[in-house]
Amino acid sequence: MRKIQNRSMLILLLTLAFFAGIVYHITNLSIHASEWASMPINGHIADTTGLDHAGTIYDRNGVILAQSVNGKRIYNEDETTRRACLHVVGDDSINISTAVQTAYRSELGSYNIVFGLGLPESLKKGSDLTLTIDSKMQKAAYEALGSNRGAVVVYNYKTGEILCLASTPAYDPENVPDDIETNDEYEGAYINRCVSATYPPGSTFKLVTAAAALNNVKEAENSTYDCQGSAEIGGKEVTCYEISGLVDMKQAMCESCNLYFGQYAVNLGKDAMTRQAEAMGFNKNITYDGIETAKSVYNVKNATTNDLAWSGVGQYTVLESPLNMAMISASIANGGKAYEPYILKTNPNPLKFEGHKTKTMLDSKTASMLYEMMDYTAANNYGKSSFSDTLDVCAKTGTAEVDEGGAHAWVTGFCKDEEHPLAFAVIVEHGDSGYRAAVPVAASVLAAVA
Ligand SMILES: [Zn+2]
Repeated sequence: MRKIQNRSMLILLLTLAFFAGIVYHITNLSIHASEWASMPINGHIADTTGLDHAGTIYDRNGVILAQSVNGKRIYNEDETTRRACLHVVGDDSINISTAVQTAYRSELGSYNIVFGLGLPESLKKGSDLTLTIDSKMQKAAYEALGSNRGAVVVYNYKTGEILCLASTPAYDPENVPDDIETNDEYEGAYINRCVSATYPPGSTFKLVTAAAALNNVKEAENSTYDCQGSAEIGGKEVTCYEISGLVDMKQAMCESCNLYFGQYAVNLGKDAMTRQAEAMGFNKNITYDGIETAKSVYNVKNATTNDLAWSGVGQYTVLESPLNMAMISASIANGGKAYEPYILKTNPNPLKFEGHKTKTMLDSKTASMLYEMMDYTAANNYGKSSFSDTLDVCAKTGTAEVDEGGAHAWVTGFCKDEEHPLAFAVIVEHGDSGYRAAVPVAASVLAAVA
């Protein structure tokens, strides 16, 4: 009798395991089936790249960015808009890995759970996608970057919606140049620099060092430093662009004093600096709607004292993505909480894409002090009208030294206006001066805000 009982129990367990397995596979299938079917490795789609019946891609205002007509993929009718939106939309290939047409090929495609990819021609219709992107802003960013290489990120710090992810160099997806692989002009053209590139952040990183000081030292904002333009820290020189004299933190931020923040990084030490950088997105994977971005790096394990000082002003080996930088400004504008950025205005698959969360980068007191410093810096160093005559902008520039070809020019900031809660980051590679090269690009993009 005992034997029979044991056997019944075994059969029951096996039956339960069987059904659990079925549930698991069905769930997995409903989440990932279209993705698996649309993988480039699938021979069925190799000839057509899977876009011949893909859905239409719209920007936030209903502008068509890409659509399939008679089995052919066509893009926006305006060539500049096509180029400006290249890295967001993609081309017929899968070369731009973070583009919507690569990352969401399955969502756009005409896969069907009953027919698979063998859907009868008459029934083939892809799913449309509406993006949070504003094609007008993309175009303004693309035109402002001109022949420079660079990137512009703009996103809504009250919601996380990405409005602009422009990157240059770009090309026309409808007429892909024949010499794209050999012409230096197109070097790195498959990369969306907003999310897939990292750069030395230069003085924009002083926001991170200031946050570390405010979080670890009582009344850190009042501590002063007498800047004479250069000083030895850790036995080697740290230099400033100008002599600031006696400065507190707000004035040091405004005048971008390297010595003030370099000395602070050394006083705070490696652990406190690393903790703060990591709280603000460094050494972490940032994704938006499932798309992976390049990791920002803050690693001072092997840094000398002098290296640590330079790391506090965004030099040494510090690297940051433009998207990460925009998120830092967003968190400062939004009381310390950065919304995770997203690009899909409507969710094509709630099982696959989760809702949008916030990430606490700063406590609210630190955020409000940095807010004030960026406000003061924009007003007293750059001039608010350098950004906009109508929007009230807070900002910090950076001029990041690199080994070859002149310094990278940065600016990051946000609009104070409730109606336009926008945070941004701009880089112009080898632009030499954040103020002269990056600020005008930010101004052009903000002018496109309706
Ligand atoms: Zn100085």
